[in-house]
Amino acid sequence: MPDIQILSPHVADLIAAGEVVERPASVVKELVENAIDAGARTVTVEIRGGGMTYLRVTDDGCGMAPEDAGVAFLRHATSKLRDARGLESIATLGFRGEALAAISAVSHVELLTRQQGTASGTRVTLSAGEIEEMYETGCPEGTTMIIRDLFYNTPARLKFMKSDRAEGSACVLAAFRCALGRPDISVRCIRDGEEQFFSPGDSRMESCVYSLLGRDQAAKMLFCAGGADGVKVEGYVSSPGAGRGNRSAQHFYCNGRVIKSAALQSALEQAYKNTLLVGKFPACVLYLTLSFGAVDVNVHPAKTEVKFTQEKAVFDAVYYAVRSALERESPAAAVHISAGTQKKTEPRADFYQTMSAAEYRTKQSASAKREVQYAPPKPYPAPGISTNTTFRSPTVAPAAPVRPPMPRPVPAPAPRPEPKSAPQPVQTALETFEEKAPAAVPEQKARIIGEAMNAYILIEKGDTLLLIDKHAAHERINFDRLQKQTDPLMSQTLLSPVPFSPGGTDAEVLRMHADSLEQMGFEIEPLSGDDFMIRAVPEIMSEKDAAAALEEICRDLRHGGELDVHAARDEILKTVACKAAIKAGWNTAPQELLPLAEAVLSGEVKYCPHGRPVAVTLTRKELDKLFLRIV
Ligand code: ADP
Ligand code: MG
Repeated sequence: MPDIQILSPHVADLIAAGEVVERPASVVKELVENAIDAGARTVTVEIRGGGMTYLRVTDDGCGMAPEDAGVAFLRHATSKLRDARGLESIATLGFRGEALAAISAVSHVELLTRQQGTASGTRVTLSAGEIEEMYETGCPEGTTMIIRDLFYNTPARLKFMKSDRAEGSACVLAAFRCALGRPDISVRCIRDGEEQFFSPGDSRMESCVYSLLGRDQAAKMLFCAGGADGVKVEGYVSSPGAGRGNRSAQHFYCNGRVIKSAALQSALEQAYKNTLLVGKFPACVLYLTLSFGAVDVNVHPAKTEVKFTQEKAVFDAVYYAVRSALERESPAAAVHISAGTQKKTEPRADFYQTMSAAEYRTKQSASAKREVQYAPPKPYPAPGISTNTTFRSPTVAPAAPVRPPMPRPVPAPAPRPEPKSAPQPVQTALETFEEKAPAAVPEQKARIIGEAMNAYILIEKGDTLLLIDKHAAHERINFDRLQKQTDPLMSQTLLSPVPFSPGGTDAEVLRMHADSLEQMGFEIEPLSGDDFMIRAVPEIMSEKDAAAALEEICRDLRHGGELDVHAARDEILKTVACKAAIKAGWNTAPQELLPLAEAVLSGEVKYCPHGRPVAVTLTRKELDKLFLRIV
């Protein structure tokens, strides 16, 4: 049986070609990467017939000398790597010297290239890897590579190609990914005569992201920056409300190279924990910069898989950068960041400014007695809101016997503000700031208008109307508070224990997470078989919610799959937080709504633990549009 033969170079080339050039999109990727390595500022990608019949990449990079132009198509011919040591720190996208050999082995190639600063260029044509013609010619500085009839001599491969449409889209996507990775290079992509995208190449990340992702997507992205231990992270991540149905909008770059990395994907997604809807994935464009020696790109022929020598450091850098971006997000910004304003914004402290309680009192008595002088206002970055007398909405009947959350007297409503004078907030909104220094009277104050449908708190702030889902906001506040708690939750014994008989799977889930449930204040006694008795529930929950809460917890834990203790704890807390929160439809005292509104306005809460937004905004412009005041 063994009759070993060395394959002919031609067959060996075809096999090697298969590794690098799987489909037209791989050709696009390799050629654009070559253009980038050549120092191009402008790259044009043009495809026809799904990239199979015609594919052209033009650049204004360094070009090739005539003697290099022919050699470039030989296997292992590269100008980017000299010896084995060079492999340890690769600064270029290419280094294997295989792409041009592979591409030319399975197509007809035409190369036009002229070195920068030389008088004339070179034209080379090849078929199936063999040079057919080569002569001096006039052409622009830089390189143009035309690939025709891809896979014409490998019918087996040709059979695997999808429709022109699918292959064409994959080509555009390959060029798109390269373009998104290099804000300093202008990339244009044309398919069957139509421009698909164009990036300006002005070195600004935001204009790159804006031009490539489009206005709508860009508007939902948050600027993100951070890094430590030699890893720099910059870019944009989607706001949690703009989660996607899959991971296709996650773009990671390492030193300008498109990369796939399970570690980075997991760092990104963990940063969104408890803020994203189930089944949704964050989108991102993240640029990582680290020393060339800290990353091994020589792992896979397509060079998209990499190995980090310090994976933990890279993970942490991404995780914390994304987390801080999400924490900085302001409630109004969550819905309305225009590409122009989504630059490196600091938290908009001015948005939440208010007076301190001390200043308020001073002002109160000043206006009452007209004799107290108070100090000129200083800027004061504390969060807060004010209410005025219109706070009492008809739906929240002030006379209703609603219990104030804290046993302190509710102060009398403030006198009506004088026309054009600074607003006179009522006391309740300001008591939180009692201990703080006198503050500026801000130009724009938030004002609670009231509550609609016993569900939504309405707030006016400058030219923006904010609607807060009171249940979602309260749920998040509860969740954050519970999560911070390290001791077991306080438990309340039920007056009459509730029998609980979940199905087999849920009974198993209950047994598996018994410890976590106990820590959270549940006391569940196993009876025979799959029957249980609920004897105690967390103190903050109502007795009557016991069975429903446990059912929900079982379902969440079941869907969660293999959860570690922390994840299981979070799942349980979500339900506890939800059950302990005020509900839509309830009559809620204004005093109870205030802390919710404050927490939202301060940016402390943005999404409920299930990922639903706690607030939405409507700008004056949007309202004006609705009323056709403007078009
Ligand atoms: P690699 O990129 O791994 O070096 P390739 O087969 O892709 O291998 O390219 C071989 C060589 O051809 C490169 O090292 C480079 O010197 C030259 N080359 C390819 N494309 C270009 C280009 N667009 N501009 C200038 N030189 C190029
Ligand atoms: Mg290359």
